[in-house]
Amino acid sequence: MTRLLIAALVLMLAACGGRSERADRGADDLAGVGGFLQRAFAGRSDDAAPPEGGGLCGDPYLVGEEVGDVPGPGVCGIENAVRVTSASGVTLSQPATLHCSAARALRTWVDASAKPAFGKRGGGLSELQVAAHYVCRTRNHKPGAKISEHGKGRAIDISAFRLADGTEISLISDWGRGENGKALKSMWEGACGPFGTVLGPGSDGYHENHFHFDTASYRGGPYCR
Ligand SMILES: [Zn+2]
Repeated sequence: MTRLLIAALVLMLAACGGRSERADRGADDLAGVGGFLQRAFAGRSDDAAPPEGGGLCGDPYLVGEEVGDVPGPGVCGIENAVRVTSASGVTLSQPATLHCSAARALRTWVDASAKPAFGKRGGGLSELQVAAHYVCRTRNHKPGAKISEHGKGRAIDISAFRLADGTEISLISDWGRGENGKALKSMWEGACGPFGTVLGPGSDGYHENHFHFDTASYRGGPYCR
């Protein structure tokens, strides 16, 4: 009798197990479908068709115009300069005159770090506030200092970001603060690699309100502060 009861119990448990396993499998299938849809949509935005007028510096996602050689006084100047108006679908607040190496680094960073930092929030990242690009000057405007990478078209300064809904996120008001602070921190980290030098708030007192990115490389690897 006991043996029969145990057998019945085992059968019931097995049946329950079977049911719950099937239910789980059903949930997995649903999650699988959801995941597929998510991937399909993500894929659609990530693999967006190259913008019209793209192809600057051989990159279909860089839009702007070729401006040829920019002669500078002294060591300033750019060979085969370009004027970038948008990178990976994100508009620059003012066209940035750059060497192709910096233009391509910018595009890589926009795609890999800047856009993902905000995700779909506010309709996604739509504009970079460009504070400086090509300018023949010394580092940090110090008299007698080395010529800045800005004087070689290999640097860009970015002070704020605008989302599609008009929201502005700036270094001066959002660095280190809340969700926007986290987004800024993650894109600062992400710039280290595509760019060889990355400076931001807290680095040296000259970059409290903007990011400085340049493509200068050092023997010890990227310099990011
Ligand atoms: Zn700078």
